[in-house]
Amino acid sequence: MAVDYQSLAVDGVQALSPYQPGKPIDELARELGLDPDAIVKLASNESPIGPSRKALAAAKKALEEMCLYPDGNGFALKQALAKRLDVNMDQITLGNGSNDLLEVIARCFADHNSEIVYSQYAFAVYPIVTQALGATGIVVPARDWGHDLDAMAEAVTDRTRLVFVANPNNPTGTVHTADAVNAFLRRIPEQVLVVLDEAYCEFLTGDEYPDGVSLLADYPNLIVCRTFSKAWGLAALRVGYALSSPEIADILNRVRQPFNVNAPALAAATAVLDDDEYLNRAREVNAAGLRQLADGFDRMGLRYIPSAGNFIAVEVGPQASGVYQALLARGVIVRPVAGYGMPRHLRVSVGLPEENERFLDALAGALVAAGEGG
Ligand code: PMP
Repeated sequence: MAVDYQSLAVDGVQALSPYQPGKPIDELARELGLDPDAIVKLASNESPIGPSRKALAAAKKALEEMCLYPDGNGFALKQALAKRLDVNMDQITLGNGSNDLLEVIARCFADHNSEIVYSQYAFAVYPIVTQALGATGIVVPARDWGHDLDAMAEAVTDRTRLVFVANPNNPTGTVHTADAVNAFLRRIPEQVLVVLDEAYCEFLTGDEYPDGVSLLADYPNLIVCRTFSKAWGLAALRVGYALSSPEIADILNRVRQPFNVNAPALAAATAVLDDDEYLNRAREVNAAGLRQLADGFDRMGLRYIPSAGNFIAVEVGPQASGVYQALLARGVIVRPVAGYGMPRHLRVSVGLPEENERFLDALAGALVAAGEGG
């Protein structure tokens, strides 16, 4: 009799659905017979301004040595990060994107006996890593689309090992102030680790928001995760980092794959840290794009969740999946978020001004096509 391999997968994995990435441009081009250059993809919170020239040059140079393993300790990148962030190198753990670190952290500190606390509408990888471990996810209802930090603190029990907090959160774009995050951290027992996921922190403007790095000294149970995928424009290369106490970093480094960050990625990330011009431009384009999209939604009478990230969740109504399809037919890829329990919304990443305009035009047509326009 044929073996049912499904039943051999561990319990958590049997019930798991894979992470749904944004639809690739080439896939839509193949499906609809469109020219890939005519397609606008605003679906994965990528940098719309292209790569940093400095990062690109460094990655190309690193490729010359592709027959060699990368530096498994990522010395040069850690040194550059330590200098920029004013931390010690032994507080840094590098990851193959910050997704890698979210998983490594969960594997280090949680198992099937553990509870892991996160918010409703929080980044999809938290439930995925929780379920893969057979741990119990404690999903705390959101407040105004954002994390209810008080309720999250109250949800911590003797079995809680980890709490994931995304600040700003994806896909909602909601953010908490430094005061709120401090008040929350003060309530979390020291034996419970808090992962403060700051994938979008470079887009934050204003002193009221926390800088996870400055919190590390006060909270030994804090791990801050960041990425080069968003504001730094290196999504394809997969580089992220975790900041923590040296003791926690030592634990994470035992479990991560020895060469989890490849050589072009290490080189590009090290180089881009020297390219503040790139970062500043990314921030400016993002701020202007957020305004442009919000103005467009206002004109169309659509509600949206004000966002601190490089994307906005806009409420298009009960036919959101039809609107998504109608946008695809117009060569515009955004992200459906029904899987997050947000069936009335679509998430759009901020693009260049002309891409945002193209999306807004297509959206007006798509709403009519999907029967939402009246
Ligand atoms: N955290 C959040 C909140 C994110 O939105 C993302 C990317 N979608 C990540 C982490 C992971 O990004 P990466 O693995 O590219 O660093």
